[in-house]
Amino acid sequence: MIDTHAHLYDPHFQPDINQHITEIQEAGVNEVWLPNCDLASWDQLVELTTKFPHFVLPMIGLHPTYVKENYILELQGLEALLEKNKVLAIGEIGLDYYWDTTYQKEQIKAFERQCHWALDRKIWIDVHCRKAYGDLIRLLKKPEYRNLNGIIHCFSGDYREAQTLASLGFKLGVGGVITYKNTTLFEAIKDIPLTSIVLETDSPYLSPVPFRGKPNSPKFIPIIAQKLADLYQVPLSDLIEITNQNAQILKTMSGY
Ligand SMILES: [Zn+2]
Repeated sequence: MIDTHAHLYDPHFQPDINQHITEIQEAGVNEVWLPNCDLASWDQLVELTTKFPHFVLPMIGLHPTYVKENYILELQGLEALLEKNKVLAIGEIGLDYYWDTTYQKEQIKAFERQCHWALDRKIWIDVHCRKAYGDLIRLLKKPEYRNLNGIIHCFSGDYREAQTLASLGFKLGVGGVITYKNTTLFEAIKDIPLTSIVLETDSPYLSPVPFRGKPNSPKFIPIIAQKLADLYQVPLSDLIEITNQNAQILKTMSGY
């Protein structure tokens, strides 16, 4: 199984990172994809990809909640790193109007610029979107992004938004939220074919039940896979095979 989105470089996983990695591998997770947040997180991320090169794969990008008045400098720094480093995807990038809308315009500018980084390199984007699905879809429908695809990480939109994003070629990332009692997530995705779904944890956030409220880990991917298999009423082995294939397609696109 592949965890397509985990902040495994988060200080929470230190200093026992070797132990964490062992537990993750013992749980049957053989790859973890690392979304970047800003320039400051890149060094921690690279430390991990250097230490475990085939187990963790890097993305690079400026996370929308890190878009502040200095965002142009941040983007310049990240773009320089992108010139020198092979990455799986541009991420995590996107729009977040949930926490703060002060830099809404700047978030859109940063997102669009980073979409072009992906297009220019023929790689994909890993999208973070909260309370901004209208704007996200409006942007992704622009003709210039026709060839862009990727993952909508921790998908939290409604049924119509799920349909639209899947039809635009995006996979929907599903994590611990699917196990929550009051979630409407499955209502939104139940008609989306499994060929448009990938597994993720967003560790150390959003732990699945029964670990909700505790730090999340990629080792909980099997819980998410089992819950999805139950909801879609397919054998677990089928669910794992299909979601792995979906992730594999993205990997291949980026030359991994
Ligand atoms: Zn994330």
